[in-house]
Order: sequence, then structure tokens, then C-alpha cells
Amino acid sequence: MVLYPEIYPWAPDAACKLNPAKPRGLHPDAYAALRSLTLAHRITRGINHSAERGNVHDTDGTVNGKAYTGAVDISVRCLTQVQIRTLLARLATAGFAAWYRKDSQDGWTGPPHIHARWAGCRLKPVLRQQVENWLVGGNGLFSKPALSVLASVGEMRGDVGKLYHLFN
Ligand SMILES: [Zn+2]
Repeated sequence: MVLYPEIYPWAPDAACKLNPAKPRGLHPDAYAALRSLTLAHRITRGINHSAERGNVHDTDGTVNGKAYTGAVDISVRCLTQVQIRTLLARLATAGFAAWYRKDSQDGWTGPPHIHARWAGCRLKPVLRQQVENWLVGGNGLFSKPALSVLASVGEMRGDVGKLYHLFN
């Protein structure tokens, strides 16, 4: 039972059918942070070794002898735009640089989801580039205009930047 749906509108809800979570390969600290946000059940992608162009979920490094990625995709199914915005802010507070990817927005196409990078671990160059772009309000796609409706906003950036610069 969810006691505070107004605080965690993305919490498990029998009325919202999600695909099984796929957190494999996500950095353990990132996974723990998502669990604390009642979000682990919405993870749709952790590590992904596909050579497909545009895949940024490949290995960032190893922790405890296992390959990890700092990139994670999160389902936004059943959430309103306002709730998604709240979620982006909560993710930033928890140490994630997160973008909402919506079909046909910013020249990006595909199923809607949140693409987030955990700032609390060493990241590979493509993710460092994305986080650094996020920290200046960019959309990571390097298209114009740089700032979409649900991209990062100023107050979200401070803590993520501090955490990021500890590790990168
Ligand atoms: Zn992603």
C-alpha cells in the first residue's frame, strides 16, 4: 500500500501495468538511490552492450569486479507531465542528471521515457558529455533549441554537479 501517493505518484500501483524491471548492470549506488525513491520497479534499462548507434548504456567501469553503467532508463507510464517534472526534480536531488525523452521533441524519436545518468560514479566520455550538457541546461542531443520543456532547470543542478565533480 502506498501511504503518500502525492509524494511518490510513480510508486507501484496495480492499476498501472508495467513491464518487469530490468535493472541489470546499473551501478549499485544508483540502484539503491532509485529504490529509496520508490522507483526501482520502473527501471527499463541498465547496462546494454549493443553496438547500436546511440547506445550510451554500455560499460562505464567495474565495481566489485562487475561491469556497471551509470545510465538508466525509467518508465513514465501512467504519469502526468506534472508528475514527470516532479520526478525529474526528485532524481536531481538524489544525484541523477535526468532528461525526459518524448517522441518528436528535440528531434528525438522513440517511446517516452526518462534517461538518467548517476553522477556518483566514474562515467565514460559520452555520459560525461551528457551530464556536462545537462548541467548547463542542454538536452544532450545537441540540437537547437537547447532547452526543452522538461529538461533540467536551474535549481536541480547544484547537488548533481558537486557529486559529479567528485567522481569525474
Ligand atoms: Zn537511456
